[in-house]
Amino acid sequence: MNIQTFVFNHFGENTFVVSDPSSRKCAIIDPGCFFEKEKQELKTYILSENLQVEYILFTHCHLDHAFGAKFAAETFPHAQIAAHKNEEVFINDALNQSLRFGINMEQPPHLTHYIEDGEVISIGNIALQAIFVPGHSPGGLCFYSVADSVLFAGDVLFSGSVGRSDLLGGNHSTLIAGIEEKLLTLPGKTVVYCGHGPATTIETERNSNPYL
Ligand SMILES: [Zn+2]
Ligand SMILES: [Zn+2]
Repeated sequence: MNIQTFVFNHFGENTFVVSDPSSRKCAIIDPGCFFEKEKQELKTYILSENLQVEYILFTHCHLDHAFGAKFAAETFPHAQIAAHKNEEVFINDALNQSLRFGINMEQPPHLTHYIEDGEVISIGNIALQAIFVPGHSPGGLCFYSVADSVLFAGDVLFSGSVGRSDLLGGNHSTLIAGIEEKLLTLPGKTVVYCGHGPATTIETERNSNPYL
């Protein structure tokens, strides 16, 4: 699995392109590109690597993770647009939310696929298992590859921190319970790619995250 990380938009959000080198199939996780330069950076990477976008996946649909959803969907029209059903509220209310930050964003497209807890998403030879961890947002998903020992954690778990739970549909105790039961039980060597900030490992967070 190849993983390309981009840091996009006003919120320093991490967008990932996960690709299978043998089939050239890929998924965009959390298309946060906002500025034209960022959109072109994402597009240029995918075209220059000759990748075929199978999925636009959302760990959750807070606006910083969805700024570039319309651009990605229009640029790669054959991709499924997939998130947990509980995140649709953010897609529907995206323009209002962004205006509250004084940001004029493009309306994200409708989801074409609802991801269930435990579902395995195939991208060529890559298998990403969806793990439902609500509490930062009501439909929060992490994507886990057993074969590559990699977890895409969205805003659920960060290096030395956890996601905030004061936004719509958030719940702190639900979040902490989900992290402890479903994420900290993964193998310690699992590399965690977070929605913001640097990557970490499960073992590091198990041993030193002050919120857990
Ligand atoms: Zn978030
Ligand atoms: Zn975020």
